[in-house]
Amino acid sequence: MPLYEYFCPTCEHRFDKLQPMSATGADCPNCEQPARRALSVFASITRGGSGEMDFSPMPPMGGGGCCGAGGCGCGH
Ligand SMILES: [Zn+2]
Repeated sequence: MPLYEYFCPTCEHRFDKLQPMSATGADCPNCEQPARRALSVFASITRGGSGEMDFSPMPPMGGGGCCGAGGCGCGH
């Protein structure tokens, strides 16, 4: 039975709910209004396990190592 992640647009509460595949929705446990299904738990696990890989490499800015000090010969 999959675990679904829900987001309540009424009170902005986020919660997980274990439901059968045939489930169509869930009510917010906080304000008891209908909540929106957001993501499955599988996406959450992926996001939490490899979060550091989401950072794109940033070129070093400043410091005068390359392109700016004019000493590297790369033409910039
Ligand atoms: Zn709510």
